Amino acid sequence: MPVRAAWIGIGVGLLFSGCAASLKEVVTPARPGTPTELPWRLNRELLTPANERIEFVVEQLAGHAPNRQALNDLVELASRYGGRPASWVTRRQGEPFKLDPNVSYVIVRYVGHQLPSFGLAYNRQVQGRTLYFLIINQEVHRNFKVLMPIRRLEQQTLIHEYGHLLGLPVPHYGYYPKYPSFSGGMHCVSPDCPLSRPRPKAVLYNAFWIAFGHHYLVDYCADCREAIAQAQALWKSAAKPAGE
Ligand SMILES: [Zn+2]
Ligand SMILES: [Zn+2]
Repeated sequence: MPVRAAWIGIGVGLLFSGCAASLKEVVTPARPGTPTELPWRLNRELLTPANERIEFVVEQLAGHAPNRQALNDLVELASRYGGRPASWVTRRQGEPFKLDPNVSYVIVRYVGHQLPSFGLAYNRQVQGRTLYFLIINQEVHRNFKVLMPIRRLEQQTLIHEYGHLLGLPVPHYGYYPKYPSFSGGMHCVSPDCPLSRPRPKAVLYNAFWIAFGHHYLVDYCADCREAIAQAQALWKSAAKPAGE
């Protein structure tokens, strides 16, 4: 690379990293009762090979059909963090299906624009086990398609909401956007994380990132990945028989 081009590149890089740092949110106290020690409240079932596979059961209740590539992206990420195969299947709402004890289930519901937000994540106890739910407001994403392809918009929401199911973020880099209210859930302070709360700062950072990095935010930030790695190492060592 010519010297002048290299200096311009370094300058843009510094500007970019300076912007990123200044766009970072401030950590707030966690909701009382939130574990503050390793493994925090990270989800052991979804972050270890707890069974044979993870299945995403996709239901379209309203609106456009789900973006298949965005679902493929989610499945790839879930398989990587879950240490086992993952796949997605479609199902008509209400259609009965038998729960396989060797499978973790995540029900993904596309609801059009029935939510006040992009998406929602929660879990429910069903037949003595935990089922996970992701609700996607896919029509609202279409309001932003001039900024980003639909695939990327839906992918970021799916990965954001899946991050909540994983138990991310952990308190030492988490914040509540409406603190002292805990409503809306804890989010990651890093604007370069899909688990940051969608807000002007994160959108600005995303625009920088795409403009200079030429790629999208498709994985959690370094802090989130480090927390997952620490929890996985702890669970692995605890699972080893004594003397190994
Ligand atoms: Zn969220
Ligand atoms: Zn993060």
